[in-house]
Amino acid sequence: MFSLGIILDEEQPATQRIGILAQLFDDEYWMQQALSEAERAMEEGEVPVGAVLVHDNEVIGRGRNQVEALQDPTAHAEMIAITSSVDALKSRRLIDTTLYVTLEPCPMCAGAIVLARIKRLVFGAWDPKAGACGTLMNILAEPRLNHQPEVVGGVLADRCGGILSHFFQQLRASESPGENPPGTGRNADPSEY
Ligand SMILES: [Zn+2]
Repeated sequence: MFSLGIILDEEQPATQRIGILAQLFDDEYWMQQALSEAERAMEEGEVPVGAVLVHDNEVIGRGRNQVEALQDPTAHAEMIAITSSVDALKSRRLIDTTLYVTLEPCPMCAGAIVLARIKRLVFGAWDPKAGACGTLMNILAEPRLNHQPEVVGGVLADRCGGILSHFFQQLRASESPGENPPGTGRNADPSEY
């Protein structure tokens, strides 16, 4: 949860403070949409991660993790949201867009965010196992790459992380030792996302 005391400085003009608050409410609103995608992924037995891409206050692309269903290690929520947005904007450059995703992107998705020239990334939970936007490394702040998106982490982090914890708790409860058939979505491991 944000502490407003940290982001709101009393020295700032009121209009600037109102702008920061409005952005926070917007970010939470769109993150709810990404959470809905994560819930869909969970219903499908996938590690619950969801993403939406927003342009001019409109969702132009959605994605949810489909790694197991498609048996595709690149079928992360962010990749699917980016690909569908490229179709919507008819451009490989997603200028002036914001990507909302429930989990800190991995190195592959962070690379795709740079290549697509996405302006802002807003993510929910931090990922200690594969996060490439500040946790294990920070691809988005790499000055040797030719684009550095703005990054905001921790938006609705409790809910975004909570759905992942809930998924893995249920998974452990439903599995008995030794029973772990590969490729069923039931052997999911957060480090594999
Ligand atoms: Zn990824």
